[in-house]
Amino acid sequence: MVKARVVSFDVEGTIVTPSFSDYVWLEAIPRLYARNRGISFQEAKAFITKEYEKVGMDKPEWYDIAYWFKRFNLENFQSILEDSFHRLAYYPEVKEVLEGLRGDGYRLIIISNSSREFLRFQIKELEDYFDQVFSTTSDFAQTKHHAELYSRIYSLTGVTPQQAVHVGDRLDSDFHPPRKAGAIAYHLDRSGRNRGEYVVRDLVEFREKLNRFDGCR
Ligand SMILES: [Mg+2]
Repeated sequence: MVKARVVSFDVEGTIVTPSFSDYVWLEAIPRLYARNRGISFQEAKAFITKEYEKVGMDKPEWYDIAYWFKRFNLENFQSILEDSFHRLAYYPEVKEVLEGLRGDGYRLIIISNSSREFLRFQIKELEDYFDQVFSTTSDFAQTKHHAELYSRIYSLTGVTPQQAVHVGDRLDSDFHPPRKAGAIAYHLDRSGRNRGEYVVRDLVEFREKLNRFDGCR
């Protein structure tokens, strides 16, 4: 067996908390829409949430802030992102684990559904840890619910899926597809409700399991 060489990370719910995104999508955009239309924040939020649901998170547009600004007839999403940046928060163990994994000799990459515009803010302070950053929606116009997309990304990174390990918080996009592609995947369940060989509670446990796994094969 080959030692894993590349570790790919999901971003939201894995590296950054949802606070920044939630603020942008559910506070800042409805507030701007309400002001433009002269309606209440509650009305705007109800309307906008319904519009999001019509598209759904399996479609690339869901993640595309430029698309939504056009659809809602709004301008300047850049300033919304900048004004919301103070809401961004990393999970406490992130930097230490990334540093540790680099020290262990792994190459680290990002595989996120977030659009480039979002990622720029979400990993602003962590860029140095990652060799490559893939936004599946901006780079491939797809969401990462597809095994083929994982295979394609690993091949662009110069490894086979068998040399890759993915970690993320969603079963339907971070666990089943990479496994189907042939990679090892760990399900990050920060609630701690699920247990199993390939379930981890935080990234510290992920690194421990990965080291153990790589040590014994
Ligand atoms: Mg996630």
